[in-house]
Amino acid sequence: MKIGFIGLGNMGAPMAKNLAAGGHEVAGFDVTGTYPDGVRASGSAVEAAQNADVVITMLPEGDILRKVAGEVIPAMKPGAVLLDCSTVDVASARAVAGDAIQTGIQPLDAPVSGGVGGASAGTLTFMVGGPQDAFDIAKPLFDIMGQKAVHCGPSGNGQAAKICNNMILGVTMIATCEAFALADKLGLSRQAMFDVVSTSSGYSWTMNAYCPAPGVGPQSPADNGYVPGFAAELMLKDLRLSQHAADTADADTPMGAAATELYRSFVEDEEGRGRDFSAMLPRFENRGRS
Ligand code: NAD
Repeated sequence: MKIGFIGLGNMGAPMAKNLAAGGHEVAGFDVTGTYPDGVRASGSAVEAAQNADVVITMLPEGDILRKVAGEVIPAMKPGAVLLDCSTVDVASARAVAGDAIQTGIQPLDAPVSGGVGGASAGTLTFMVGGPQDAFDIAKPLFDIMGQKAVHCGPSGNGQAAKICNNMILGVTMIATCEAFALADKLGLSRQAMFDVVSTSSGYSWTMNAYCPAPGVGPQSPADNGYVPGFAAELMLKDLRLSQHAADTADADTPMGAAATELYRSFVEDEEGRGRDFSAMLPRFENRGRS
């Protein structure tokens, strides 16, 4: 397929590289002007999008997506697919999809989980919203860039799935970290805590697969000085998106709101920026009740 790829940062560059290595013709554009192997440099987003069967965007946030989509949609060929893999607010995803459909373009919102490691290895999971026909066209590309693509329903539902998942992730990481810090103060060893909880009703992905305590459980960023992994500021971005969506939908999410405020203070006031989101554990370790 002819692919236009816009936004070649930490995630987009390896995704585009994998598509080119998979035999697709990839024209890329990024404002930084750097391009991965196999990707032809374009002078603008519009140039990358012209004549493409699928235009992929991997951008920082919703306002930038709206701006880029406003430029490329009129330049795309009729029937082409606009596949946004960025994590953005549900409202932006649905607004872009509406504009695309009006112009005869097929929209998909397909945020990912798996991080930079998954993007490089081609093992991302895609959560996809949009028409079935567009999903079928994009499926071979999902198969190169990832290991799984779940069609979640109409436009915006991919973003809805992503932020609901990551709201659970933020809340459970905090719960796991505060429980470890309490266990420390009660004289329970971290190994004993892991051995019990990982096989009891308190188990979770954050305990069993991404344990925030160094030297305990499987290898995780905790074993590497809390170098991300998944940075705390990205967790904060996704939690804020969840609360924005909850406001819009009038949903009561007290745990999501508390997690958002904790990650906000960690990132903005407590030097958490640039650390893995599991570095909540040393944060709790160093605090008392007041
Ligand atoms: P990044 O900042 O490394 O990459 C974004 C790229 O977009 C940058 O290279 C930037 O120059 C480019 N860009 C910005 N404005 C542009 C424009 N107008 N035209 C063309 N290019 C433009 O971010 P990333 O880590 O690659 O993340 C991309 C998206 O994926 C985000 O929405 C993020 O939330 C999501 N995500 C990231 C991770 C992760 O672990 N990094 C995991 C899952 C999802």
